[in-house]
Amino acid sequence: MVVDPDKIHLFEDRSIFEELPEACPFFRHDQKTGKAYCTVHLTRPDICREYACWRLLILDFRGRRAGRIMYQRYFISDDTTLTQLWEQCINKIDESDDAVWEEEMIRILTKAGYTILR
Ligand code: SF4
Repeated sequence: MVVDPDKIHLFEDRSIFEELPEACPFFRHDQKTGKAYCTVHLTRPDICREYACWRLLILDFRGRRAGRIMYQRYFISDDTTLTQLWEQCINKIDESDDAVWEEEMIRILTKAGYTILR
């Protein structure tokens, strides 16, 4: 595996391990954009290509992948409508308990027609 040329600056920032000590060594979170990254995306292992590193999978009403949740709350979107819903509703959930936050997030997305696979 090789760190992607456009993600070297992210890879060099190891602060994620203070919050998530057991995270994959190549996982990074960009504090400025709020996005999560695999810093070896271009050369990631086969197991990652097959299973992806998500904890929760969000499907749209057609059963297509609309987004993923990595670790506790890192959201990766494949769907602009879901991105808007996330920004308007999920980002406004004021809850520090991850389990309570997750139930509320799932309730909102389910009501909007999405299916969440754990
Ligand atoms: S895709 Fe694989 S290599 Fe990349 S961050 Fe996730 S677990 Fe790590």
